[in-house]
Amino acid sequence: MDKLEPLDHCYGTTLEEIERTLRYALDIVSDGIWDWNIRTNHVKRSPGWYSMLGHPPDSLPEDVDTWRSVIHPGDFERVMRNFQAYLDGESLIYAEDYRCRCRDGSYLWISDHGRFVEFDEAGKPTRMIGAHRNIHRRKMAALALQRKNDELLALNRKLEGLVEARTEALRQANEALARQVEAAMRLSETDPLTQISNRRHFERSLHGEWQRFQRHGHVTALLMFDLDHFKRINDNHGHQIGDRALVAVSRTVRAALRDEDCFARWGGEEFIALLPETDQGAALLLAERLRLLVSQADPSLPLGLTASFSVAAMQAGEGIESLLKRLDDGLYRAKQQRNCIVGC
Ligand code: GH3
Ligand code: MG
Ligand code: MG
Repeated sequence: MDKLEPLDHCYGTTLEEIERTLRYALDIVSDGIWDWNIRTNHVKRSPGWYSMLGHPPDSLPEDVDTWRSVIHPGDFERVMRNFQAYLDGESLIYAEDYRCRCRDGSYLWISDHGRFVEFDEAGKPTRMIGAHRNIHRRKMAALALQRKNDELLALNRKLEGLVEARTEALRQANEALARQVEAAMRLSETDPLTQISNRRHFERSLHGEWQRFQRHGHVTALLMFDLDHFKRINDNHGHQIGDRALVAVSRTVRAALRDEDCFARWGGEEFIALLPETDQGAALLLAERLRLLVSQADPSLPLGLTASFSVAAMQAGEGIESLLKRLDDGLYRAKQQRNCIVGC
């Protein structure tokens, strides 16, 4: 280790030289020095302190009030409180950033540090020295950054709100669209006069049920009926009465079937029902029930309604076309007699 140089080698030998060296050093680490004699309340401030605030050296009263008078009102209370806390021994350091009023009325951000340097015999502080540092540019840049940050945060919150509102609007639009699609779908599968399924929906259901039958072999039957001499109703009582009869028959039969049975208007005065989990025997019994119900469907009609029925159960290896043809042929045979049921 190098041998330490004697202090007087660094700082000079005369008091004057030592003081000058000290001033240089203080100028490097601070922009202004204050030296408070607590007993006399006299405060000596360095030329740097004065020039920092735009005052000629030693131009202000050398007391604590001068310091108090230059502190920004917005910072005053905080600075006083923390300074007092140090004086009362409640805090170990006094260090505050605050704004000081310059001679031209503008304010300068400074950083102030101070500590007791001398004490009396009783240990009471008698002298305190502090240093001011001009932190205006750094502080302004930090404040500008903070402002920008706040602006960005506010913008972010606004954007988040917008996105949220947009998402909600989109969700509602999607829901409305889904409802519309569902309604359109229902409409496209519903017979407008009778409000039961139309042929299109029936064919779709039949296809699905037929595939299930192929896979699992669950018994499934089809039932078709055609109103007898319906033309006469129209001819004798008018088309409107004919329509009413079609609606009444549809309602009555629909109510007599299970929810899972698909019941549709096959065309004109011809109807068809798909009966899952129903064998030929059960379908024939059901057809008999329906035959009676059709005759009672619309008591307001001037003449009784009858229908001819055909019933067919799905058979292994048989295609849909062949199944429908069988059903159709059965109906044709039933029509030879009318108001009867033909199993095929
Ligand atoms: P059949 O016993 O041989 O079945 O005799 P039908 O008169 O019922 O049979 P046809 O096929 O000769 O006539 C069917 C009639 O059904 C013809 C048509 O006027 C009537 N019709 C078909 N669709 C409607 C409809 O939507 N409303 C009304 N009012 N009548 C309809
Ligand atoms: Mg008919
Ligand atoms: Mg017909």
